[in-house]
Amino acid sequence: MAAFLVLSCLTAAVLAGGILWVNKQKSPKRRPISLLFAAAFVTVVCNALAVNVHTEWAASFFYVLYYIAGDWILVLILFLTGVSLKKNRSRTTFLWCSFLCLIDTVFLLSNLKFHQVFHCVESVLPNGRVRYGVQFEITHYAFVLHILLRCVLLFIILLTYIRQMFATIALYRGRYLRIVWSVLAIIVISSLGRIFALPMDITSILYAVLAILCVYFSYFYISRGIVAKVLSLLIEDTQQGIVCFDKDGRCIQLNSAYASLFGERGTKEYFEQYFEEWRRQRGELREEFWREAHEVDGEMHYYDVHFNILQDDKGSFVGSFFSFTDRTESVMEYEQKRYEASHDELTDIYNRKRFFQEVEVKLKEEPEVQRVMVCIDVKDFSVVNSLFGEKTGNQILQRIAGLMRRDASENTIYGRLESDHFAMCMREEDFVEADYAEYLEDLKRIVHSSVYRMHAHVGVYRIIDSSINISVMCDRAFAAIESIKDSYQHIVAYYTEDMGKTEQREKVMIGEFDRALAAGEFQMFLQPQISVGDYRVLGAEALVRWEHPVRGMISPGSFIPVFERSGQITRLDNFMWEMACKQLRVWKDQGIEDLHISVNISPRDFYLVDIYNTFTSLVELYGIDPGNLKLEITETALMEEISKQFSLLEKLRKYGFQVEIDDFGSGYSSLNTLQDIEVDVLKLDMGFLRKTTHGKRSKTIMNAVIEMSKNLGLTVVTEGVETQEQVDYLTWAGCDIFQGYYFSKPIPVKQFEAKYLTNRYAGSV
Ligand code: C2E
Ligand code: CA
Ligand code: CA
Repeated sequence: MAAFLVLSCLTAAVLAGGILWVNKQKSPKRRPISLLFAAAFVTVVCNALAVNVHTEWAASFFYVLYYIAGDWILVLILFLTGVSLKKNRSRTTFLWCSFLCLIDTVFLLSNLKFHQVFHCVESVLPNGRVRYGVQFEITHYAFVLHILLRCVLLFIILLTYIRQMFATIALYRGRYLRIVWSVLAIIVISSLGRIFALPMDITSILYAVLAILCVYFSYFYISRGIVAKVLSLLIEDTQQGIVCFDKDGRCIQLNSAYASLFGERGTKEYFEQYFEEWRRQRGELREEFWREAHEVDGEMHYYDVHFNILQDDKGSFVGSFFSFTDRTESVMEYEQKRYEASHDELTDIYNRKRFFQEVEVKLKEEPEVQRVMVCIDVKDFSVVNSLFGEKTGNQILQRIAGLMRRDASENTIYGRLESDHFAMCMREEDFVEADYAEYLEDLKRIVHSSVYRMHAHVGVYRIIDSSINISVMCDRAFAAIESIKDSYQHIVAYYTEDMGKTEQREKVMIGEFDRALAAGEFQMFLQPQISVGDYRVLGAEALVRWEHPVRGMISPGSFIPVFERSGQITRLDNFMWEMACKQLRVWKDQGIEDLHISVNISPRDFYLVDIYNTFTSLVELYGIDPGNLKLEITETALMEEISKQFSLLEKLRKYGFQVEIDDFGSGYSSLNTLQDIEVDVLKLDMGFLRKTTHGKRSKTIMNAVIEMSKNLGLTVVTEGVETQEQVDYLTWAGCDIFQGYYFSKPIPVKQFEAKYLTNRYAGSV
């Protein structure tokens, strides 16, 4: 009896502790588990009280509670079975069992009055104390229901776990097997207790133990096998190659990722040897990280390797492992990016940056070797794209790169600096001038045209001082090209000292620009444009002059190209445009509204300013008629991005400006392009017609151009008119306007006004 009480108290304490512990957990099952433990607690406590109270009614009351709680233990185990197995069907079973259990509860409660399930029987213990036991009414249906319910519940619980045992994978079978064994053991022990009529009924304690075991095995029990198996599956599943060794260096685990990372070498034997060797070299083993590369199936693979030792709770060495992370892909990606960043996409040779870097290294490595910097420039390359399309342009560039690649010796570094500029740095003895004539012949095969003449120039700079910037070396090679840039006869030019002086002069000019503009050193000169026939002055072309404080008057031929290269031309042009507008306003205020001024627009301006906005704003600002401002655009400017330029011209003309094509015939415009270009005026230059062709042929061309322009309704201006002969011929040919020294050189505004405002006729030259 005392032992039973101690056992009951212990069990109750374990259950109470269980309830507290479970409630601290965050598990969603903590409610049903607490309820189950609470029911078990009630069972144990009520049973202990029932056998210890001294009145029949109290004994009967505690027995009723004990039986009711016993029922609910089984129902709650059933519920938890359903929860843990997550099966829908078990929900219906659970509801039915709860319903039956509720009826049984009602019968048991009514037993307090009617004693239809059991009644208490008094027995006197040897020590004289009274104890109440129970006598079941085995024939009463209420008792039958009670017993049947218990059997059914136990049976269903058993069945559910047995079924689950077979349904689950082998790894988890042990867990259910343990529950089944627990249920069976409890049924057997409790039956034996009854059969042998033990003095104390320990069913309540058995039920409590059953509740604890079910909860433990269902939710908290994790078998060592499962842990090992899941961990090994986890290792198997990772992308990293993992090899584990026991403390003696035997390979105990090698995942398939490892095998695939190392191809044929991915075997335990191979790696045991590797480890053995590695261990010998290291001496003491400790955690390490490093990177290594291996050739696998003919390809290089790159790995991040991690080695570490494994220790148990007490810190004893139990084994070690290597993990290999394949970073080949990221290495390749990095290499690719590095390659792309240092190579020109189109030609696949070094880009400017990499070329400079490589040359710098080479020059440092071999300072005793005499080298030359050789730069290549395609003549009028921008025209190629417009005339023949980008594809042909690209073909030329790729061909040049191909030729460089084909003939470069291993000591030659070559690259594409930008657009059609290439550079090579080679040993002086490797440079053979004749090669370049051959290259040109090769390139000529790509472009067949009567309009465009394929030509390329090569500039050579002998590297005397290897400490100067590589870009300066290239600039010098290009300065050499500059000296032959208009020639089709020359291919190769060598840099000389005085070219350096030009370079120096250019730098000075660029440096002086801001000051000169602010100080008003740039001036607008006007050259009259005269109507053919009556020699009336119709207007003038605005031409810039630089009144330099030291060098005197400088003509635009020497500074315009410099400012075009430096980008400063746009500010200069803006200044000239504004001067022209101001002048038109002055004349307007004097009542002169039939004189026009033509202004020059540099090809660079199209990239650097919004032409349309600039001109319309100026016209609005000065309140002048746009028809009096003529815009001179060169063919070269039109040739790039033709469609964009055409729509710009259309907008300008719609607004009221007159658009003129300057230097027509000097570039590559064929007569046919005249039909497509929407302009008002065509300016022909006597000068270059004279320069390029002679006599008859020049006149034939002139005649054709003038005739065609007339048919298209264009006004023809001829500039560079110097002789009476030319005036006569042009009058005969149908030219509309003259401009040239024959009438007047470009002159300052004041002089122009004095000469022509009062007398508008220039016939008396
Ligand atoms: P351009 O636009 O073709 O200007 C005509 C050039 O021919 C002027 O040279 C003019 O003085 C010259 N010229 C006129 N009549 C004769 C003649 O009978 N015989 C000869 N031999 N030459 C004659 P300039 O003023 O030296 O200008 C040279 C070039 O500089 C211009 O050629 C133009 O392209 C550029 N330029 C001049 N002023 C400006 C400007 O304000 N802005 C821009 N972007 N370029 C300008
Ligand atoms: Ca002009
Ligand atoms: Ca011109």
